[in-house]
Amino acid sequence: MLSELPILPATRAFLERKLKMRIGADWQDATSGRTLSFRNPATGDVLGDVPSADAEDVDRAVRAARQAFDDSPWSRLRPRERQNLLWRLAELMERDARQLAELECLNNGKSAAVAQVMDVQLAIDFLRYMAGWATKIEGSTVEPSMPLLPNAQFHGFVRREAVGVVGAIVAWNFPLLLACWKLGPALASGCTVVLKPADETPLSALKLAELVEEAGYPAGVFNVVTGTGLNAGAALSRHPGVDKLTFTGSTEVGKLIGKAAMDNMTRVTLELGGKSPTIVMPDANLQEAAAGAATAIFFNQGQVCCAGSRLYVHRKHFDNVVADIAGIANGMKLGSGLDPTVQMGPLISAKQQDRVTGYIELGRELGATIACGGEGFGPGYFVKPTVIVDVDQHHRLVQEEIFGPVLVALPFDDLDEVIGMANDNPYGLGASIWSNDLAAVHRMIPRIKSGSVWVNCHSALDPALPFGGYKMSGVGREMGAAAIEHYTELKSVLIKL
Ligand code: NAD
Repeated sequence: MLSELPILPATRAFLERKLKMRIGADWQDATSGRTLSFRNPATGDVLGDVPSADAEDVDRAVRAARQAFDDSPWSRLRPRERQNLLWRLAELMERDARQLAELECLNNGKSAAVAQVMDVQLAIDFLRYMAGWATKIEGSTVEPSMPLLPNAQFHGFVRREAVGVVGAIVAWNFPLLLACWKLGPALASGCTVVLKPADETPLSALKLAELVEEAGYPAGVFNVVTGTGLNAGAALSRHPGVDKLTFTGSTEVGKLIGKAAMDNMTRVTLELGGKSPTIVMPDANLQEAAAGAATAIFFNQGQVCCAGSRLYVHRKHFDNVVADIAGIANGMKLGSGLDPTVQMGPLISAKQQDRVTGYIELGRELGATIACGGEGFGPGYFVKPTVIVDVDQHHRLVQEEIFGPVLVALPFDDLDEVIGMANDNPYGLGASIWSNDLAAVHRMIPRIKSGSVWVNCHSALDPALPFGGYKMSGVGREMGAAAIEHYTELKSVLIKL
Protein backbone atom coordinates (compact mmCIF):
# COMPACT_ATOMS: atom_id res chain seq x y z
CA MET A 1 0.00 0.00 0.00
CA LEU A 2 1.39 3.39 -0.98
CA SER A 3 0.03 5.48 1.85
CA GLU A 4 -3.07 5.82 4.00
CA LEU A 5 -2.50 9.56 4.13
CA PRO A 6 -3.37 11.73 1.13
CA ILE A 7 -0.73 12.39 -1.51
CA LEU A 8 -0.96 14.27 -4.79
CA PRO A 9 -2.25 12.28 -7.78
CA ALA A 10 1.00 13.32 -9.53
CA THR A 11 3.07 11.70 -6.77
CA ARG A 12 1.02 8.52 -6.96
CA ALA A 13 1.31 8.46 -10.76
CA PHE A 14 5.09 8.96 -10.55
CA LEU A 15 5.41 5.97 -8.22
CA GLU A 16 3.15 3.76 -10.27
CA ARG A 17 5.25 4.25 -13.40
CA LYS A 18 8.08 1.99 -14.45
CA LEU A 19 11.03 4.13 -13.44
CA LYS A 20 14.03 4.40 -15.75
CA MET A 21 17.41 6.11 -15.70
CA ARG A 22 18.20 9.21 -17.68
CA ILE A 23 21.13 8.71 -20.06
CA GLY A 24 21.61 11.19 -22.89
CA ALA A 25 18.26 11.77 -24.60
CA ASP A 26 16.74 8.50 -23.36
CA TRP A 27 15.05 6.97 -20.37
CA GLN A 28 16.68 3.57 -20.04
CA ASP A 29 16.72 0.29 -18.12
CA ALA A 30 20.00 -1.16 -16.91
CA THR A 31 21.75 -3.12 -19.66
CA SER A 32 21.77 -6.14 -17.36
CA GLY A 33 18.02 -5.76 -16.77
CA ARG A 34 18.68 -5.76 -13.01
CA THR A 35 16.69 -3.54 -10.70
CA LEU A 36 17.07 -2.19 -7.19
CA SER A 37 14.07 -1.79 -4.90
CA PHE A 38 13.45 1.13 -2.58
CA ARG A 39 11.27 1.33 0.52
CA ASN A 40 9.03 3.64 2.49
CA PRO A 41 10.96 3.98 5.77
CA ALA A 42 7.77 4.82 7.68
CA THR A 43 6.34 1.35 6.99
CA GLY A 44 9.30 -0.72 5.78
CA ASP A 45 7.28 -1.63 2.67
CA VAL A 46 8.90 -1.83 -0.74
CA LEU A 47 7.63 1.16 -2.75
CA GLY A 48 9.03 0.26 -6.15
CA ASP A 49 12.25 -0.32 -8.04
CA VAL A 50 14.67 1.45 -10.32
CA PRO A 51 17.29 0.18 -12.78
CA SER A 52 20.44 -1.07 -11.08
CA ALA A 53 23.23 0.35 -13.21
CA ASP A 54 26.64 -1.21 -13.53
CA ALA A 55 29.87 -0.15 -15.22
CA GLU A 56 28.44 -0.44 -18.74
CA ASP A 57 25.53 1.91 -17.99
CA VAL A 58 27.82 4.33 -16.20
CA ASP A 59 30.10 4.33 -19.22
CA ARG A 60 27.16 5.20 -21.49
CA ALA A 61 26.18 8.05 -19.19
CA VAL A 62 29.72 9.43 -19.04
CA ARG A 63 29.97 9.26 -22.85
CA ALA A 64 26.67 11.12 -23.17
CA ALA A 65 27.93 13.78 -20.76
CA ARG A 66 31.24 14.01 -22.65
CA GLN A 67 29.48 14.44 -25.98
CA ALA A 68 27.28 17.18 -24.53
CA PHE A 69 30.27 18.95 -23.02
CA ASP A 70 32.53 18.76 -26.08
CA ASP A 71 30.17 19.15 -28.96
CA SER A 72 26.54 20.10 -28.47
CA PRO A 73 24.39 23.23 -28.31
CA TRP A 74 25.22 23.27 -24.59
CA SER A 75 28.94 23.76 -25.22
CA ARG A 76 28.13 26.85 -27.28
CA LEU A 77 25.66 28.49 -24.89
CA ARG A 78 26.48 31.90 -23.55
CA PRO A 79 26.54 32.58 -19.79
CA ARG A 80 23.24 34.46 -19.94
CA GLU A 81 21.58 31.42 -21.52
CA ARG A 82 23.00 29.12 -18.85
CA GLN A 83 21.68 31.55 -16.25
CA ASN A 84 18.21 31.53 -17.80
CA LEU A 85 18.06 27.75 -18.01
CA LEU A 86 19.00 27.38 -14.36
CA TRP A 87 16.38 29.96 -13.43
CA ARG A 88 13.80 28.06 -15.49
CA LEU A 89 14.69 24.83 -13.68
CA ALA A 90 14.17 26.60 -10.34
CA GLU A 91 10.74 27.78 -11.54
CA LEU A 92 9.71 24.25 -12.49
CA MET A 93 10.86 22.97 -9.12
CA GLU A 94 8.77 25.66 -7.48
CA ARG A 95 5.76 24.57 -9.55
CA ASP A 96 6.27 20.92 -8.46
CA ALA A 97 7.49 21.67 -4.94
CA ARG A 98 4.79 19.68 -3.19
CA GLN A 99 5.35 16.64 -5.38
CA LEU A 100 9.11 16.81 -4.84
CA ALA A 101 8.50 17.07 -1.09
CA GLU A 102 6.15 14.07 -1.09
CA LEU A 103 8.62 11.96 -3.08
CA GLU A 104 11.33 12.93 -0.60
CA CYS A 105 9.04 12.06 2.30
CA LEU A 106 7.96 8.68 0.94
CA ASN A 107 11.48 7.72 -0.06
CA ASN A 108 13.43 9.10 2.90
CA GLY A 109 10.91 9.26 5.75
CA LYS A 110 11.30 12.99 6.40
CA SER A 111 8.32 15.29 6.93
CA ALA A 112 6.78 16.36 3.62
CA ALA A 113 5.77 19.72 5.12
CA VAL A 114 9.31 20.39 6.33
CA ALA A 115 10.85 19.07 3.09
CA GLN A 116 8.77 21.53 1.11
CA VAL A 117 9.93 24.59 3.04
CA MET A 118 13.45 23.34 3.73
CA ASP A 119 14.88 20.77 1.30
CA VAL A 120 12.97 21.87 -1.80
CA GLN A 121 12.97 25.60 -1.08
CA LEU A 122 16.66 25.61 -0.18
CA ALA A 123 17.40 23.74 -3.42
CA ILE A 124 15.40 26.30 -5.43
CA ASP A 125 17.08 29.24 -3.68
CA PHE A 126 20.47 27.68 -4.28
CA LEU A 127 19.86 27.14 -8.00
CA ARG A 128 18.75 30.77 -8.32
CA TYR A 129 21.86 31.93 -6.47
CA MET A 130 24.00 29.81 -8.82
CA ALA A 131 22.11 31.10 -11.87
CA GLY A 132 23.50 34.52 -10.94
CA TRP A 133 27.05 33.16 -10.97
CA ALA A 134 26.82 32.01 -14.61
CA THR A 135 27.38 35.58 -15.82
CA LYS A 136 30.01 36.43 -13.22
CA ILE A 137 32.70 33.83 -13.84
CA GLU A 138 35.82 35.85 -14.60
CA GLY A 139 39.46 35.40 -15.42
CA SER A 140 42.14 38.05 -15.06
CA THR A 141 44.79 39.83 -17.06
CA VAL A 142 48.44 39.99 -16.04
CA GLU A 143 51.37 42.01 -17.30
CA PRO A 144 54.19 39.49 -17.82
CA SER A 145 57.82 40.40 -17.07
CA MET A 146 59.44 37.65 -19.18
CA PRO A 147 63.05 38.63 -18.28
CA LEU A 148 64.55 36.43 -21.01
CA LEU A 149 62.87 38.44 -23.77
CA PRO A 150 63.33 42.01 -22.60
CA ASN A 151 62.39 43.64 -25.88
CA ALA A 152 59.25 41.64 -26.64
CA GLN A 153 55.75 42.69 -25.71
CA PHE A 154 53.23 40.26 -24.29
CA HIS A 155 49.63 40.04 -23.36
CA GLY A 156 48.94 37.59 -20.54
CA PHE A 157 45.58 36.51 -19.25
CA VAL A 158 43.96 33.76 -17.24
CA ARG A 159 40.75 32.10 -18.36
CA ARG A 160 38.44 30.31 -15.93
CA GLU A 161 36.94 27.38 -17.85
CA ALA A 162 34.36 24.73 -16.99
CA VAL A 163 36.11 21.64 -15.64
CA GLY A 164 34.16 19.23 -17.89
CA VAL A 165 32.21 16.08 -17.06
CA VAL A 166 31.22 15.97 -13.39
CA GLY A 167 30.50 12.68 -11.60
CA ALA A 168 28.28 13.41 -8.61
CA ILE A 169 27.57 10.81 -5.92
CA VAL A 170 25.28 11.75 -3.04
CA ALA A 171 23.92 10.46 0.26
CA TRP A 172 20.30 9.69 1.19
CA ASN A 173 19.70 12.22 3.95
CA PHE A 174 18.88 15.23 1.71
CA PRO A 175 18.64 13.57 -1.72
CA LEU A 176 17.32 16.52 -3.72
CA LEU A 177 19.22 19.28 -1.94
CA LEU A 178 22.57 17.47 -2.13
CA ALA A 179 22.02 16.79 -5.84
CA CYS A 180 21.29 20.49 -6.41
CA TRP A 181 24.38 21.54 -4.49
CA LYS A 182 26.32 19.70 -7.22
CA LEU A 183 24.09 20.54 -10.15
CA GLY A 184 23.91 24.31 -9.52
CA PRO A 185 27.61 25.21 -9.81
CA ALA A 186 28.18 22.55 -12.50
CA LEU A 187 25.48 23.96 -14.79
CA ALA A 188 26.31 27.59 -13.99
CA SER A 189 29.90 26.94 -15.10
CA GLY A 190 28.98 25.00 -18.24
CA CYS A 191 29.87 21.48 -17.05
CA THR A 192 27.81 18.35 -17.73
CA VAL A 193 26.81 15.92 -14.99
CA VAL A 194 26.32 12.23 -14.25
CA LEU A 195 24.50 11.92 -10.92
CA LYS A 196 24.40 8.72 -8.87
CA PRO A 197 21.78 9.11 -6.13
CA ALA A 198 22.01 6.97 -2.99
CA ASP A 199 20.87 3.35 -3.26
CA GLU A 200 17.91 4.07 -0.95
CA THR A 201 16.71 7.37 -2.46
CA PRO A 202 16.55 7.51 -6.25
CA LEU A 203 13.15 9.19 -6.61
CA SER A 204 13.80 12.91 -6.42
CA ALA A 205 16.87 12.56 -8.68
CA LEU A 206 14.69 11.01 -11.40
CA LYS A 207 12.05 13.69 -10.96
CA LEU A 208 14.81 16.30 -11.17
CA ALA A 209 15.98 14.77 -14.47
CA GLU A 210 12.45 15.16 -15.84
CA LEU A 211 12.42 18.82 -14.84
CA VAL A 212 15.87 19.39 -16.37
CA GLU A 213 14.54 17.97 -19.64
CA GLU A 214 11.40 20.12 -19.43
CA ALA A 215 13.49 23.23 -18.71
CA GLY A 216 15.09 22.76 -22.13
CA TYR A 217 18.59 21.53 -21.31
CA PRO A 218 20.19 19.71 -24.26
CA ALA A 219 20.39 15.92 -23.98
CA GLY A 220 23.40 14.62 -22.10
CA VAL A 221 23.87 17.69 -19.91
CA PHE A 222 22.30 15.94 -16.90
CA ASN A 223 22.32 12.15 -16.64
CA VAL A 224 21.12 10.05 -13.72
CA VAL A 225 22.34 6.50 -13.11
CA THR A 226 20.53 4.67 -10.33
CA GLY A 227 22.01 1.70 -8.55
CA THR A 228 24.29 0.64 -5.76
CA GLY A 229 27.38 2.38 -4.53
CA LEU A 230 29.39 -0.78 -4.98
CA ASN A 231 28.53 -1.07 -8.69
CA ALA A 232 27.34 2.23 -10.14
CA GLY A 233 29.10 4.49 -7.61
CA ALA A 234 32.44 2.72 -7.82
CA ALA A 235 32.27 2.62 -11.65
CA LEU A 236 31.60 6.35 -11.78
CA SER A 237 34.38 7.19 -9.34
CA ARG A 238 37.02 5.30 -11.33
CA HIS A 239 35.83 6.26 -14.82
CA PRO A 240 38.68 8.04 -16.66
CA GLY A 241 36.18 10.09 -18.68
CA VAL A 242 35.09 11.99 -15.56
CA ASP A 243 36.94 15.28 -15.06
CA LYS A 244 35.65 16.03 -11.59
CA LEU A 245 34.13 13.94 -8.83
CA THR A 246 31.95 15.52 -6.22
CA PHE A 247 30.84 13.32 -3.36
CA THR A 248 28.62 13.69 -0.33
CA GLY A 249 28.55 10.75 2.04
CA SER A 250 30.48 8.93 4.71
CA THR A 251 34.16 9.50 5.39
CA GLU A 252 34.79 5.80 4.80
CA VAL A 253 33.43 5.88 1.23
CA GLY A 254 34.86 9.37 0.69
CA LYS A 255 38.37 7.96 1.16
CA LEU A 256 37.70 5.30 -1.51
CA ILE A 257 36.45 7.96 -3.89
CA GLY A 258 39.41 10.21 -3.16
CA LYS A 259 41.80 7.34 -3.93
CA ALA A 260 39.96 6.44 -7.15
CA ALA A 261 40.07 10.10 -8.16
CA MET A 262 43.83 10.29 -7.66
CA ASP A 263 44.39 7.31 -9.97
CA ASN A 264 43.03 9.42 -12.85
CA MET A 265 44.02 12.82 -11.40
CA THR A 266 40.32 13.62 -11.42
CA ARG A 267 39.49 16.81 -9.52
CA VAL A 268 37.58 15.93 -6.37
CA THR A 269 35.43 17.52 -3.70
CA LEU A 270 34.45 15.46 -0.64
CA GLU A 271 31.67 16.45 1.75
CA LEU A 272 31.86 13.88 4.52
CA GLY A 273 30.74 13.02 8.02
CA GLY A 274 30.62 15.10 11.15
CA LYS A 275 30.29 15.09 14.92
CA SER A 276 29.57 18.73 15.49
CA PRO A 277 29.66 20.31 18.94
CA THR A 278 26.96 22.56 20.37
CA ILE A 279 28.53 24.71 23.09
CA VAL A 280 26.35 26.43 25.69
CA MET A 281 28.34 29.12 27.47
CA PRO A 282 27.55 30.25 31.04
CA ASP A 283 25.90 33.52 29.95
CA ALA A 284 23.71 31.96 27.19
CA ASN A 285 19.96 32.45 26.95
CA LEU A 286 19.28 28.97 28.29
CA GLN A 287 15.79 28.51 26.92
CA GLU A 288 16.90 29.42 23.41
CA ALA A 289 20.01 27.29 23.76
CA ALA A 290 18.05 24.21 24.86
CA ALA A 291 15.52 24.59 22.03
CA GLY A 292 18.35 25.24 19.56
CA ALA A 293 20.37 22.26 20.77
CA ALA A 294 17.31 20.01 20.45
CA THR A 295 16.71 21.13 16.86
CA ALA A 296 20.44 20.84 16.12
CA ILE A 297 20.33 17.11 16.86
CA PHE A 298 16.74 16.04 16.20
CA PHE A 299 16.09 17.80 12.86
CA ASN A 300 15.84 15.23 10.04
CA GLN A 301 15.99 12.46 12.68
CA GLY A 302 19.59 13.45 13.42
CA GLN A 303 20.60 12.34 9.92
CA VAL A 304 22.37 15.61 9.20
CA CYS A 305 26.09 15.75 8.48
CA CYS A 306 26.50 18.86 10.65
CA ALA A 307 23.98 17.80 13.34
CA GLY A 308 24.86 19.09 16.80
CA SER A 309 25.48 15.59 18.12
CA ARG A 310 27.87 16.54 20.95
CA LEU A 311 26.50 18.96 23.55
CA TYR A 312 28.83 20.80 25.91
CA VAL A 313 27.07 22.85 28.60
CA HIS A 314 28.72 24.92 31.33
CA ARG A 315 28.55 22.85 34.50
CA LYS A 316 26.37 25.33 36.39
CA HIS A 317 23.55 24.93 33.81
CA PHE A 318 24.19 21.36 32.71
CA ASP A 319 21.36 19.58 34.53
CA ASN A 320 18.77 22.21 33.61
CA VAL A 321 19.66 22.34 29.92
CA VAL A 322 19.74 18.53 29.63
CA ALA A 323 16.36 18.32 31.39
CA ASP A 324 14.88 20.89 28.98
CA ILE A 325 16.17 19.01 25.93
CA ALA A 326 14.88 15.71 27.33
CA GLY A 327 11.51 17.39 27.86
CA ILE A 328 11.44 18.54 24.24
CA ALA A 329 12.46 15.04 23.08
CA ASN A 330 9.81 13.32 25.19
CA GLY A 331 7.13 15.64 23.76
CA MET A 332 7.96 14.92 20.11
CA LYS A 333 5.36 13.14 18.02
CA LEU A 334 6.86 10.37 15.87
CA GLY A 335 5.18 8.93 12.79
CA SER A 336 4.78 9.18 9.04
CA GLY A 337 6.23 12.30 7.47
CA LEU A 338 3.01 12.70 5.49
CA ASP A 339 1.22 13.64 8.72
CA PRO A 340 1.88 17.39 9.13
CA THR A 341 1.58 17.16 12.93
CA VAL A 342 4.44 14.65 13.17
CA GLN A 343 7.73 16.10 14.45
CA MET A 344 10.04 13.19 13.82
CA GLY A 345 9.94 10.55 11.10
CA PRO A 346 11.70 7.21 10.77
CA LEU A 347 15.36 6.66 9.99
CA ILE A 348 16.24 5.74 6.44
CA SER A 349 16.57 1.95 6.80
CA ALA A 350 16.58 -1.06 9.09
CA LYS A 351 20.38 -0.99 8.81
CA GLN A 352 20.53 2.59 10.07
CA GLN A 353 18.04 1.82 12.85
CA ASP A 354 20.25 -1.08 13.98
CA ARG A 355 23.36 1.08 13.81
CA VAL A 356 21.81 3.83 15.94
CA THR A 357 20.23 1.53 18.54
CA GLY A 358 23.55 -0.36 18.63
CA TYR A 359 25.32 2.84 19.72
CA ILE A 360 22.68 3.41 22.42
CA GLU A 361 23.23 -0.16 23.65
CA LEU A 362 26.97 0.44 23.69
CA GLY A 363 26.35 3.48 25.88
CA ARG A 364 24.31 1.39 28.31
CA GLU A 365 27.01 -1.31 28.43
CA LEU A 366 29.64 1.29 29.28
CA GLY A 367 27.59 2.72 32.12
CA ALA A 368 26.22 5.87 30.49
CA THR A 369 22.82 7.20 31.59
CA ILE A 370 19.99 7.40 29.06
CA ALA A 371 18.23 10.64 30.01
CA CYS A 372 15.39 10.05 27.53
CA GLY A 373 14.48 7.87 24.56
CA GLY A 374 16.88 4.99 24.12
CA GLU A 375 14.95 2.60 21.93
CA GLY A 376 13.82 1.85 18.42
CA PHE A 377 10.41 0.63 17.37
CA GLY A 378 8.42 -0.39 14.29
CA PRO A 379 6.83 -1.02 11.91
CA GLY A 380 9.09 1.35 10.05
CA TYR A 381 12.55 2.36 11.22
CA PHE A 382 11.86 4.62 14.19
CA VAL A 383 14.24 5.55 16.99
CA LYS A 384 13.05 7.70 19.89
CA PRO A 385 14.94 10.99 20.31
CA THR A 386 17.63 10.12 22.82
CA VAL A 387 19.88 12.08 25.17
CA ILE A 388 22.82 10.32 26.82
CA VAL A 389 24.81 11.66 29.79
CA ASP A 390 27.59 10.33 32.04
CA VAL A 391 29.84 9.68 29.07
CA ASP A 392 33.54 10.28 28.80
CA GLN A 393 35.00 12.56 26.11
CA HIS A 394 36.99 9.61 24.73
CA HIS A 395 34.00 7.29 24.57
CA ARG A 396 33.07 6.02 21.09
CA LEU A 397 29.67 7.69 21.49
CA VAL A 398 31.42 11.06 21.74
CA GLN A 399 34.03 10.38 19.07
CA GLU A 400 32.08 8.59 16.30
CA GLU A 401 29.30 9.77 14.01
CA ILE A 402 26.07 7.99 14.98
CA PHE A 403 23.88 9.70 12.34
CA GLY A 404 20.61 9.41 14.21
CA PRO A 405 18.60 11.25 16.88
CA VAL A 406 21.14 10.62 19.64
CA LEU A 407 22.72 13.44 21.63
CA VAL A 408 25.64 12.95 23.99
CA ALA A 409 25.94 15.70 26.61
CA LEU A 410 28.97 16.62 28.70
CA PRO A 411 29.63 19.44 31.19
CA PHE A 412 32.61 21.81 31.08
CA ASP A 413 34.12 24.35 33.47
CA ASP A 414 35.99 26.93 31.39
CA LEU A 415 36.55 28.23 27.89
CA ASP A 416 39.91 26.55 27.29
CA GLU A 417 38.51 23.22 28.39
CA VAL A 418 35.49 23.39 26.09
CA ILE A 419 37.58 24.44 23.09
CA GLY A 420 39.82 21.45 23.74
CA MET A 421 36.82 19.12 23.96
CA ALA A 422 35.18 20.57 20.86
CA ASN A 423 38.36 20.05 18.83
CA ASP A 424 39.10 16.62 20.30
CA ASN A 425 37.35 14.73 17.49
CA PRO A 426 38.38 13.48 14.04
CA TYR A 427 35.67 15.52 12.32
CA GLY A 428 35.41 19.27 11.77
CA LEU A 429 32.27 20.17 9.85
CA GLY A 430 30.34 22.61 12.06
CA ALA A 431 30.08 23.97 15.59
CA SER A 432 27.65 26.24 17.38
CA ILE A 433 28.29 28.58 20.28
CA TRP A 434 25.38 29.78 22.38
CA SER A 435 26.41 32.98 24.14
CA ASN A 436 25.86 36.73 24.23
CA ASP A 437 29.37 37.46 25.41
CA LEU A 438 30.73 38.92 22.19
CA ALA A 439 34.35 38.95 23.34
CA ALA A 440 34.27 35.29 24.41
CA VAL A 441 32.58 34.30 21.15
CA HIS A 442 35.20 36.11 19.06
CA ARG A 443 37.97 34.50 21.07
CA MET A 444 36.45 31.09 20.39
CA ILE A 445 35.72 31.35 16.64
CA PRO A 446 39.32 31.22 15.36
CA ARG A 447 40.20 28.39 17.75
CA ILE A 448 37.43 26.02 16.63
CA LYS A 449 38.59 23.60 13.96
CA SER A 450 35.54 23.36 11.73
CA GLY A 451 34.37 24.61 8.36
CA SER A 452 31.38 26.47 9.83
CA VAL A 453 30.79 28.17 13.17
CA TRP A 454 27.29 29.30 14.09
CA VAL A 455 26.51 31.64 16.98
CA ASN A 456 23.10 31.34 18.66
CA CYS A 457 21.92 29.09 15.81
CA HIS A 458 23.01 25.75 14.33
CA SER A 459 23.17 24.18 10.84
CA ALA A 460 22.16 27.55 9.39
CA LEU A 461 23.25 27.32 5.74
CA ASP A 462 23.14 30.07 3.15
CA PRO A 463 23.86 29.75 -0.59
CA ALA A 464 26.43 32.55 -0.34
CA LEU A 465 28.42 30.95 2.50
CA PRO A 466 30.91 28.19 1.64
CA PHE A 467 30.12 24.90 3.37
CA GLY A 468 32.52 22.03 3.95
CA GLY A 469 34.79 20.36 6.42
CA TYR A 470 38.09 20.56 8.23
CA LYS A 471 39.88 17.31 9.08
CA MET A 472 37.95 14.08 8.33
CA SER A 473 34.86 16.05 7.29
CA GLY A 474 36.12 16.53 3.78
CA VAL A 475 38.03 18.36 1.10
CA GLY A 476 36.79 21.47 -0.69
CA ARG A 477 33.71 23.62 -0.24
CA GLU A 478 30.21 23.77 -1.64
CA MET A 479 28.16 26.95 -2.06
CA GLY A 480 29.34 30.52 -2.34
CA ALA A 481 31.98 31.63 -4.81
CA ALA A 482 34.09 28.69 -3.61
CA ALA A 483 31.75 26.27 -5.40
CA ILE A 484 32.43 27.90 -8.76
CA GLU A 485 36.16 27.56 -8.16
CA HIS A 486 35.71 23.82 -7.67
CA TYR A 487 33.88 23.40 -11.01
CA THR A 488 36.36 25.37 -13.09
CA GLU A 489 39.98 25.12 -14.19
CA LEU A 490 42.41 27.97 -14.77
CA LYS A 491 44.11 28.32 -18.13
CA SER A 492 47.03 30.76 -18.47
CA VAL A 493 47.49 32.36 -21.88
CA LEU A 494 50.52 34.29 -23.04
CA ILE A 495 50.48 36.07 -26.38
CA LYS A 496 53.67 37.51 -27.84
CA LEU A 497 52.59 40.59 -29.72
P1 NAD B 1 27.63 6.47 2.05
O1 NAD B 1 29.02 6.96 2.03
O2 NAD B 1 27.37 5.08 2.46
O3 NAD B 1 26.95 6.63 0.61
C1 NAD B 1 26.96 7.86 -0.08
C2 NAD B 1 26.90 7.59 -1.57
O4 NAD B 1 28.06 6.86 -1.96
C3 NAD B 1 25.70 6.75 -2.00
O5 NAD B 1 25.24 7.23 -3.25
C4 NAD B 1 26.30 5.38 -2.17
O6 NAD B 1 25.60 4.58 -3.11
C5 NAD B 1 27.68 5.72 -2.69
N1 NAD B 1 28.69 4.68 -2.46
C6 NAD B 1 28.73 3.74 -1.49
N2 NAD B 1 29.82 2.96 -1.64
C7 NAD B 1 30.49 3.42 -2.71
C8 NAD B 1 31.70 3.05 -3.36
N3 NAD B 1 32.45 2.04 -2.93
N4 NAD B 1 32.10 3.77 -4.43
C9 NAD B 1 31.37 4.81 -4.88
N5 NAD B 1 30.21 5.20 -4.32
C10 NAD B 1 29.77 4.52 -3.24
O7 NAD B 1 26.88 7.53 2.96
P2 NAD B 1 25.35 7.52 3.40
O8 NAD B 1 25.19 6.49 4.46
O9 NAD B 1 24.50 7.49 2.20
O10 NAD B 1 25.20 9.00 4.01
C11 NAD B 1 25.52 9.30 5.31
C12 NAD B 1 26.85 10.01 5.39
O11 NAD B 1 26.87 11.16 4.55
C13 NAD B 1 27.13 10.53 6.78
O12 NAD B 1 28.46 10.23 7.13
C14 NAD B 1 26.94 12.02 6.64
O13 NAD B 1 27.62 12.79 7.59
C15 NAD B 1 27.41 12.27 5.26
N6 NAD B 1 26.88 13.54 4.72
C16 NAD B 1 27.74 14.61 4.57
C17 NAD B 1 27.28 15.84 4.12
C18 NAD B 1 28.21 17.03 3.96
O14 NAD B 1 27.85 17.98 3.26
N7 NAD B 1 29.38 17.03 4.56
C19 NAD B 1 25.93 15.99 3.81
C20 NAD B 1 25.08 14.89 3.97
C21 NAD B 1 25.58 13.67 4.43
